Parts: sequence; C-alpha cells; structure tokens
Amino acid sequence: MDSNLIEVKNLKKYYNSRIGPVKAVDNVNLEIKKGETFGIVGESGCGKTTLMKSILQLIKPTSGEIIFEEIDICQIDKKELRRLRKIMGFVSQDPHASLNPRMTVFDTLSRPLKIHKITRSKEDTIIKIVTLLKEMGLQTEHLIRFPHELSGGQKQRIGIARALAVHPEIIFLDEPTSALDVSVQTKILKLLEKAKKDFDLTYFYISHNINLIKVISDRIGVMYLGKIVEIGRTDIIYNNPKHPYTKGLFKSIPNPDPDKKIEKIYLKGEVPSPVNTPTGCNFRRRCDHASKICEEEEPELKKLDDGREVACHLY
Ligand code: SF4
Repeated sequence: MDSNLIEVKNLKKYYNSRIGPVKAVDNVNLEIKKGETFGIVGESGCGKTTLMKSILQLIKPTSGEIIFEEIDICQIDKKELRRLRKIMGFVSQDPHASLNPRMTVFDTLSRPLKIHKITRSKEDTIIKIVTLLKEMGLQTEHLIRFPHELSGGQKQRIGIARALAVHPEIIFLDEPTSALDVSVQTKILKLLEKAKKDFDLTYFYISHNINLIKVISDRIGVMYLGKIVEIGRTDIIYNNPKHPYTKGLFKSIPNPDPDKKIEKIYLKGEVPSPVNTPTGCNFRRRCDHASKICEEEEPELKKLDDGREVACHLY
C-alpha cells in the first residue's frame, strides 16, 4: 500500500454565485495509495461529494491536477475519459435513484459489459452476470426484476455489482450505506470488504459517519469548508487527533454503548458560508485556541513526526 494510485494536487472547485465564488473544494492535496481504503470525513456541506465528483471527472474542477498513470486526467479527451470510467467505479448514496426504473437487473448489468466490451457473446454476458449476482448474495431469479421489485439492500448490491462488472482498479463510494437499515448496512460493508480482497481493489470512501470511517479506512482526510485540515493514518488520528476541528468532530460522536452517557456536541457555532470564508484560518470563529496569527495567516498542512499532516498554527 505504498505506491500512489492517484495524486490530487492543488484541486479547486469554485461555483459562481450572485454574492461571490462558492469555494466547494479549495486547494486540496492528497494521495490515494494502491490497495488502501481512504476515507474522507466531515460535516454535511464540507465539500466531500464535490471532491469525489471532481476526482471522478463527473464535474470539471476549476483548477488543479489529478494524476493517474502519470497523466493529468483533468486534461484528457472523451475517448480517454471512457477508459477512465471503466477503471474508476462509483457507487452512489441513493441506490434507488442510481438505477434506471425501466431496466431489469440483467439490462442494468449487461450495459457496462457491452459499452466496455468486457464480454464477447450473449452467453458470456449471462455467465458473467450470474456469477456477479452470486458474489453479491443474489439469485438468478433477480435477473428479471425491476428496481421497484427490490429492497434497498438488494438495489445497493446491484449498484456494487455494476461497478465491479467492468473490473475497476478503484471504487469511489459516496456514503453507500447511509440510506439502508443498520442490519443491511453491516451486510453491505462485509460485501464491500470481501470484494476489495477478491478483486484487489482500492476504495475512496466518503461519509459523515465517523464511527464507520474509523472501522473501514486505512487512512483518512478530515475536511472542513472545502479544505483538508488533517490527514494521515486512521489509528494515529483517532487515538490522538491534533486539529481543533478534528477533536471537536470526534468528541461529537455518540457513544455506541447505550449504558454510557452520550457525549455533548463539542463543536460550537455554525459552519460559515463557503462564499464569505473568514480570513486566515477558516475554522477560527469556532476555535477556542484562535489567536492573532489565525486571523492573518492561512495555516498550511504541516507534517508531524508521526507522519500525519495538520493545517493549524498550533503545530
Ligand atoms: Fe484554531 Fe488557529 Fe489552529 Fe485555526 S489555526 S484551528 S484558529 S488554532
């Protein structure tokens, strides 16, 4: 897990608005290492979905580079982009909306196989799809079903099967279990874990669920107002968070043990608008440690001795 699969450099995605640019992703730098699960965590609206869609080229970044196979994929043409769609899979948050209501499971799964010329004959396609269904814990009888005839968990299994069908190297997962019941969530997570091992995959996983990201990720990036404020190995950051925002975010996790008192939400104030971000550190109005320098200078990510990086003037 040492070589970089994807490098994101100075990535920005700004949207125009009447009152100024909305800085949804603001100068993000990160690496996704081959074979790892990299998690992005942060409150709603912190920019994690925009970051994921920018890396996937589902939306065009304002500036910056995304290096994959030594090429900046922000600059590739349509033909190369089609190849990229095969290598970079995507599973969305809403399993229902991600499936075409007029397509059966067979049609949904055979489409990417045809587009990317994975199978050579109808027989090949059927064998491939039946195998995929089995791997997802579904039966051949599901082949003729339409999305409205499937449960939420079954729909998400089809979404994952569709992503796996074209042999991707990496799958981007946008809170894939958030719309599901807790018991189904566990099954889908186990399925994803097995698929990662079986198909030698890399995952980029975004979620606001800190407990979940903690369990599944090898490394995490903590995002606040479009920026990464802390990034590194999950165990190191969880055992000893350094950035005041990370500390507040982790302290706000409800304790899963029902006998223990739920900890009080620690983060004070509201997330500022991404249009009028404060000068200096954009967390300063919510931070108990803010000083003069935090108002004047934007903190840059600094590497600490344990290998993590933190963007805070305290370090
Ligand atoms: Fe708080 Fe200053 Fe660190 Fe920002 S740079 S998190 S305001 S101490």
